Amino acid sequence: MEHIKVKAAVIGGGASGYTAAIGLARRMGKGSTVILERQQKTGRKLLSTGNGRCNISNENVSTEHYHGDAEIIRSVIGGFSAGDMKDYFLSLGVLLRSDGEGRIYPHSNQAATILDAFKRECVRLGVKEHCSFVIRRIKPVNGGFSVISDDAEVHCGRLIIAAGSKAFPQSGADSSGYDLLSRLNIRHTELFPALCPVNTAENCKSLKGVRAKGSVSLIADGRVLRTSAGEIQFTENGISGICVFDLSRSVNEFFLRGTADGVPCKKLQIAADVMNGLSFNGLCAYIEGCVRLFAAAPAGEILSGALNVQLSRFIVKACGLSGKLCGELAAREIKQIASCAKKLMFTPSGMSSFSSAQVCAGGVDSSEVYADTLMSRKHKGLYICGELLDADGDCGGFNLHFAIASAHRII
Ligand SMILES: Cc1cc2nc3c(=O)[nH]c(=O)nc-3n(C[C@H](O)[C@H](O)[C@H](O)COP(=O)(O)OP(=O)(O)OC[C@H]3O[C@@H](n4cnc5c(N)ncnc54)[C@H](O)[C@@H]3O)c2cc1C
Repeated sequence: MEHIKVKAAVIGGGASGYTAAIGLARRMGKGSTVILERQQKTGRKLLSTGNGRCNISNENVSTEHYHGDAEIIRSVIGGFSAGDMKDYFLSLGVLLRSDGEGRIYPHSNQAATILDAFKRECVRLGVKEHCSFVIRRIKPVNGGFSVISDDAEVHCGRLIIAAGSKAFPQSGADSSGYDLLSRLNIRHTELFPALCPVNTAENCKSLKGVRAKGSVSLIADGRVLRTSAGEIQFTENGISGICVFDLSRSVNEFFLRGTADGVPCKKLQIAADVMNGLSFNGLCAYIEGCVRLFAAAPAGEILSGALNVQLSRFIVKACGLSGKLCGELAAREIKQIASCAKKLMFTPSGMSSFSSAQVCAGGVDSSEVYADTLMSRKHKGLYICGELLDADGDCGGFNLHFAIASAHRII
């Protein structure tokens, strides 16, 4: 059994773990800190962020973009701005830039630039990474901790748990971080997937792979809760795309608790406007023109000049008009098609899975950690940061921002 004695050990080599380790080593000196990573390699999830481009932060970062424990979110986000993020990465030699819509990426547009910078700084500071380190036990000892694997025991004064969430197991993520916490008697709130596709009751098989620019609105008991615009992607089982991701947390909350954004709700629906570039009247006028131009074509093709033909057929079928020709469509039917294209209704059919989710909602809240330092209330010297905490952000760089900002809270 190898015995390693350090001032600080960080469990997890992801965005928050690297940031914590670098901050601690900068303060406590070369060789003071180690990273203990369960997988063969660190940073797997980080490399898949932003489709490999890593949307690291957002110019518009503010508490409004987060859900979960308000005290923790206020403390973490209030203490670390988008400017702080740029300065932090400059200190690692990495230049960030905005995409014009507020999303911040590495200038190289490559997630690998971020991971490489973390690793380079760790080498400079003598932070040793121990990969394939499977923790069997954590023992609080003499004002510190002993972290035990099958072949090593790490003694440290400070222990940081930055093991991330169980969302997106394709990146090697699992629930072992939560298991470590529960063995230390640290509880977390209910966990559920967020930023994911939504499965719907409607049969969308014919639309699989179809994309349309538009907007989606979440409707709770007939009242519009929120609208999000962007590219709607149709899947075999429902709808996806960033604008759908933005609604997915509320959908999953509904299946878990019977509430949407905290408000009790009996019926939840999503209305998609796949022609949001045109008003209802504008769309009717456009369809009237197509009735003349496409007169001999099946009615299902009436919107094929504006939408993918499969989507056009889907809309016309939903109106019960598939048997007609375009030229046979009456004024009332044109209005019916326009109305359907502007308000295509979907009924979420159940909770999404963690395997399709980018993040996990729920986690360790301020009843377990002090919001200002993120130190455990039960174990002095033990800190929790990153996605294990009860805070999840909207799409657009807010989750990596939180992970990195939370690690700055503890150092
Ligand atoms: C496909 C995808 C794309 C995303 N894109 C973006 C994006 O562009 N912008 C954005 O802001 N957010 C994005 N996110 C979310 C973002 O990746 C996470 O919120 C963020 O990585 C969380 O950082 P973390 O350090 O808490 O956890 P992680 O990055 O998950 O790191 C945790 C590390 O701990 C290790 N670990 C786990 N358990 C143990 C254990 N028991 N012992 C030792 N080590 C352990 C893991 O192997 C992992 O290396 C995306 C997520 C996914 C899945």
